[in-house]
Amino acid sequence: MNSGRIPDISLPFLADSPGLIQSASRRSFLQAAGMLMAGMILPKGHAQTIPRPLSGTGHKVILVVVGGVRRAETFSPEGVENIPHLSSEMLPRSLFYPHTRNEGVTAHFNAISSILTGNWQRVDDWGKLAPTTPTLFEQFRKGFGAEASDTWVVASNKALTSQIGASSAADFGAAFGANVVFPKQLMLTAVADALRGGRTANMADRSKVEAELQSALEGSNYEGLGWNVFDASDRLDPRVRSSIQAAIAGFVQGGGPTSGDELTFFMSREIMRKFSPQLLVVAFSDVEAAHFGSYSLHVSGIRTADRLAYELWKEVEANPDYRGKTTLVILPEFGRDPDGSTTNGFFNHRANEDSTRDTWMMVLGAGIDKPQIIERPIRHIDLCPSLASLLGCPPITTQGSALREVRT
Ligand SMILES: [Zn+2]
Repeated sequence: MNSGRIPDISLPFLADSPGLIQSASRRSFLQAAGMLMAGMILPKGHAQTIPRPLSGTGHKVILVVVGGVRRAETFSPEGVENIPHLSSEMLPRSLFYPHTRNEGVTAHFNAISSILTGNWQRVDDWGKLAPTTPTLFEQFRKGFGAEASDTWVVASNKALTSQIGASSAADFGAAFGANVVFPKQLMLTAVADALRGGRTANMADRSKVEAELQSALEGSNYEGLGWNVFDASDRLDPRVRSSIQAAIAGFVQGGGPTSGDELTFFMSREIMRKFSPQLLVVAFSDVEAAHFGSYSLHVSGIRTADRLAYELWKEVEANPDYRGKTTLVILPEFGRDPDGSTTNGFFNHRANEDSTRDTWMMVLGAGIDKPQIIERPIRHIDLCPSLASLLGCPPITTQGSALREVRT
């Protein structure tokens, strides 16, 4: 069960690895960047959300998908210290499935596609092809004529693309898809725009920043955001603008872009507050630092996901648009390979073994009748039909079956 505590190796490329937020100045940079991005996504002339009727049952769903984490580092006697919020504060209130299986392709795009469609997807691992059967977003939007602003994906996972928002299924597709946001790219765009806008005139080394941004963009598979970016700088509050200026200065001093799950969380919360979507999917992936061979960064990513999932839950409880009518679901995409495997153990997630396939799922909030632990094994593909039913979507046929413990 032990990882073997493989020694951490030095990481010269850390600047481009899933980010871990270490300093207050970095945190304030992310907050300011988040405000800037929130400004970018608000349509011109519609700075205020107009309240609109809820679709279907009126239920809201927030689905948090964490990258690959093993039971050994999470819900096990030795792993539980890494997930204090999930295990202490959330588990006692949740419907918990300790055996939630990924029986499909244990690669990121396919795993999330399977979770979001209720069918095992076997499309391109790098998201060049959309899922082949309708996503929950499409079922929801087509079923109720819901607006695009009602369904969002916010992801720090570089293996995802905007294709995760809609399928290639006939009669569904992009017209019913979700907004897909990659905050890291958006942050870089925002900072680049701020630089171009001349709001950094006091900075000593502007060309150096631009060069850094350029290399960061190239290193991030930057390929556009798949949506319109609105020019919102004119509407920025002066206080926001000055905090952005300060943050950009900090960004330069900090030596490069760090984003990761903190930024994804911040963006998700902004979207909840500004758009209050009925269906929000948040994909955290700091844990994928494991691919770089650092056990300590992987565990640190688990701790970050634990804390941020709890922060999202606190937002649900505090936000009147969500409180009392929201179901929060948290699950990993898969586990990771066992120690001693030919694939380097925790580094990867390719082995056809329980360590990689057998994970867990937590469901909290309005969609459950009572906290309980269900030992019966379930599959990732059972989640989508359960959530579709909770939202009241017109039923479609899937490989997965709705979980009887989740309300309909
Ligand atoms: Zn991975």
